[in-house]
Amino acid sequence: MTKRVAIVTGAARGIGAAVARRLAEDGCDVGVLDLDAEACAATVEAVRATGRAAVALGTDVSDESAVNEAVATVSSTLGPPVILVNNAGVLRDNLLFKMELSDWRTVMDVHLAGAFLMSRATQRFMTETGWGRIVNMSSTSALGNRGQANYSAAKAGLQGFTKTLAIELGRFGVTVNAVAPGFIATAMTEATAQRIGVSFEQMQEMAVTQIPVGRVGQPDDIANAVSFFADERSGFVSGQVLYVAGGPVN
Ligand code: NAP
Repeated sequence: MTKRVAIVTGAARGIGAAVARRLAEDGCDVGVLDLDAEACAATVEAVRATGRAAVALGTDVSDESAVNEAVATVSSTLGPPVILVNNAGVLRDNLLFKMELSDWRTVMDVHLAGAFLMSRATQRFMTETGWGRIVNMSSTSALGNRGQANYSAAKAGLQGFTKTLAIELGRFGVTVNAVAPGFIATAMTEATAQRIGVSFEQMQEMAVTQIPVGRVGQPDDIANAVSFFADERSGFVSGQVLYVAGGPVN
C-alpha cells in the first residue's frame, strides 16, 4: 500500500486500537484520537512498533472545534488524512420508558454528529488527493436490540450516512463503507455484562450459543474488515455495510 495517513477515532482501546494497529501494519501513519490523549499511549506505541508514525490527540468527536483542530494537527504533523475510521462510541442503554433525553442525545452526538463532523473535516484532504476511504462503525444493533433505542437508531443512521457519503464522494475517488460488528469482546461489552449483573465470561458463553462460528468476535476480526475497505484494491466497493458477526444476521 502507498503510504497513507489514517485517523481512527475512539482508538485508545478495543476495536479502535486494533484498527489503528492494523492500518499501521498495512502501511499507514495514524492519528490516534480518543477523549484522553494519555489513554492512547499503548496504541501509539503499537503503531510505532510497526515502523509507522503516530500522533495521539485528546478529541471529543462531538465537539466541532475540537474535531477541526485535531484534523488540522494530524494534517500538519503526519500529512493529509485520507483514511478515516469513525469508531468512537458510547452506550447509554435503557428501556424506552426509562431512557432519559440526555441518554438519547449523548448517543446521537457521539455516533452521528461525531461521524458527521469527522467526515466533514477530513473530506477536503481526500477530495484534494483524489483518493480517500471512510469506514463507519455500525452494529448488528442497527437491526433492533432491546434496551438500545438510542444506539440502534444511531447505528442504523450511520448506515444511511454511509450510503449518502458514498454517493456524494465517489466521483472524487473516495469510498465510504460501514462495518457492523456483532458481539466483540471489549470494555464496552464487559460494561454491559456488569450493567445486567452477569460476569463477562457468562455473558460471552450466552452470546456464543447464538453465533454460528461458535465464538465471540475479537477486535482484530473487525480490524480485518476495516483493512479490506481501506485497501487500495477496494476502490470499487462503496456504500456497503458488512456485518461481521460470525454468521448471518437479519
Ligand atoms: P470501547 O472499548 O468502549 O471503546 C470506545 C472508545 O471510544 C473508548 O476509548 C472511548 O473513550 C472512546 N470514546 C467515547 N466517546 C468518545 C468521544 N465523544 N470522542 C472520542 N472518543 C470517544 O468500545 P468498542 O467495543 O471498542 O467499540 C468501538 C465501536 O464499535 C463503537 O462505535 C461501538 O459502538 C462499535 N461496536 C462495538 C461492538 C462490540 O461488541 N464491542 C459491537 C458493535 C459495534 P472512553 O473510554 O474515555 O469513554
